[in-house]
Amino acid sequence: MTERTGQCLCGNVSYTLKADPIVTAVCHCKHCQRQAGSAFSVVVLAPTNSVEIKGELKTYHDTADSGAALDRKFCPDCGSAMFSAQPDKADTIIIKAGSFDETDWLKPVAHVWCASAQPWVEISDKVAKFPGNAPGG
Ligand SMILES: [Zn+2]
Ligand SMILES: [Zn+2]
Repeated sequence: MTERTGQCLCGNVSYTLKADPIVTAVCHCKHCQRQAGSAFSVVVLAPTNSVEIKGELKTYHDTADSGAALDRKFCPDCGSAMFSAQPDKADTIIIKAGSFDETDWLKPVAHVWCASAQPWVEISDKVAKFPGNAPGG
């Protein structure tokens, strides 16, 4: 098990992940596109109790495309998207993977919400693709 660290753009929020990630995925939902200002967001699912967070976060209470509540947490100073918490699944937390200090280990194994993927994004046939949420996700 490797300890992995990350931070927001300004550095006021930082974290340490003290467990191996459960899964790394790419989310093409419209909400992630808007929040990231990008084509998708790369997300790491991890046990909530394995993430130590320093600094103040602000929360946007979103409703995901699936209809589930999703608390999107971001740095109030620089606006970096950092975490998403699912109130229905409090034992896991979603980390916005671009915030990790090292990102060479990231290996997304699934692409979700491909139905709203931007048309120029090419998704490898080596990974699982789902039009919406991954089954059970
Ligand atoms: Zn910040
Ligand atoms: Zn998304």
